Amino acid sequence: MLSLPEQQVFRFAPSPNGLLHLGHAYSALLNADLARSRQGRFLLRIEDVDKGRARREFIHQIEEDLAWLGVWWEEPVMRQSRRFSAYKPFVAVLEAKGLVYPCFASRAEIAAAVARKGTDWPRDPDGTPLYPGLWRRRPAVDVIRMRAMGLPHALRLDMEKALDALGLGPGDRITWQEEDEAGGFTERAGRPSDWGDVVIARKDVPISYHAAVVVDDHAQGVTRVVRGKDIEPATVLHRLLQDLLGLGAPVYRHHRLILDGDGKKLSKSDGAVSLKALREAGKRPSEIRRMVGL
Ligand code: GLU
Repeated sequence: MLSLPEQQVFRFAPSPNGLLHLGHAYSALLNADLARSRQGRFLLRIEDVDKGRARREFIHQIEEDLAWLGVWWEEPVMRQSRRFSAYKPFVAVLEAKGLVYPCFASRAEIAAAVARKGTDWPRDPDGTPLYPGLWRRRPAVDVIRMRAMGLPHALRLDMEKALDALGLGPGDRITWQEEDEAGGFTERAGRPSDWGDVVIARKDVPISYHAAVVVDDHAQGVTRVVRGKDIEPATVLHRLLQDLLGLGAPVYRHHRLILDGDGKKLSKSDGAVSLKALREAGKRPSEIRRMVGL
């Protein structure tokens, strides 16, 4: 029997905590171009779980910038901040499997515990010291006491148990399919344990960035994740969560980053020139394409 080729589904998933710059333009244009050339779909997702940093005006600006660039997305736009109830069953699966535990520690307590561990305490690929295990496998009575006092807590993944649940040991690797620029595929691999006991649900919101990405890519039926190389180290964590939750894995492609004059990655916090400013300075969308090498 002849099977139809799957329709590829792409997405662009900006966090609305600043204005989009050339790096975002490259990512959005690349996704939209690939979707168009492959008769696929292109979706937009606003990653606004971080309520402290996400701002409504940036969401409007993202849509305006993308429309100006000639990037069109399917409606409705997914907004993570509206999906807290959709995340619950996925967190509940990890809880039911005994793979997450509550952590009541404050940032300061965690930092102090890390300082006690000494200067060679390992860091995750983002450079954050690994969680020093303060609340890992604590007696139930401690947890019950804290809960009874109504104290807020995060939920953390017990990395060792999570790997064990998949028949993996602490140093074992997980693989994913990576598509290259020429459309070829390679298998990539990484060690989830490099991330330690990551947060699955934050103290202030009932999900974390890493867990939301995995649930949302599944919910949107995304088959192709095309995003910057800076997120590549996290892919192994996303693959781990997909396996724990029984979700299929998309094919990934981690594209080059757009660098500034000093060879540094563009970032909102360093005040990279925004698309809005470039537009106001008279640049045309075709010039933006040229500037990012498309
Ligand atoms: N929200 C992330 C960012 O703006 C992108 C996450 C992803 O593409 O998986 O950097």
